[in-house]
Order: sequence, then C-alpha cells, then structure tokens
Amino acid sequence: MAHPYHHALSSVKKWGGVPEDYIRIHDWFDESKMIIADFRHRALRHHAEGIFMAETIFGSTILLSTARVIPVRWIGEQHVREDLGFIPSFADWVKAIRAEPWMGRAQRLEDRLATE
Ligand SMILES: [Zn+2]
Repeated sequence: MAHPYHHALSSVKKWGGVPEDYIRIHDWFDESKMIIADFRHRALRHHAEGIFMAETIFGSTILLSTARVIPVRWIGEQHVREDLGFIPSFADWVKAIRAEPWMGRAQRLEDRLATE
C-alpha cells in the first residue's frame, strides 16, 4: 500500500516541485485510514466523486514551489490510479457492499413521534 509520501514523490516526478507541494492532497485521500486501517478505507475517497471533492477542498489548482500551476484533479487521478489501477465511480464501490437489514431499516417518523 503506497504511503502518501510516495504518492507525493511520484507527483514530483510527473510535474516537478517538492513532495511538500503535494503531500496535503495525498494525505487527504488516505486520511480515511483513521476510520478503517485496511484497504477498504479507500471506499470513502478513492473514486471519481472523491477526486472532485478534493477540488472543493484544495481548489481547482495548486501553485508549486517552482511557480508551476497544476490542476488538483490531476493529482487526485494520479493517486487513485496508483492505488487501484483505474478510477472507479462510487457506484463501483457500492456494488461491493453487501446489503444488511439494518441499512434499510426505516420507521415512519410520524409514527415514531406518535408513540413517544
Ligand atoms: Zn490512497
């Protein structure tokens, strides 16, 4: 499993600059390891929507220490491709989630309020 620092080194090789130019973005993709320590953590951000979410957090582009401007989306795509070999949609991840009864449990809120 690639460490965010190694993804940052790969970014440097592609677009120049230093690892610190990219590390915040690669750290963000892998922060979900705080929730689950194995590779399933990737379901949270390693997909097309996650890449676009990174843009809302870091902006459309970043300015490298070399004064070069690089799209954040390129960095996200690089990270996800290096980890998974392609860029899945979130729907690809959902297909791999086994449905459990508790996920669909629902009670009409009106009924619940009436009994309380
Ligand atoms: Zn990752």
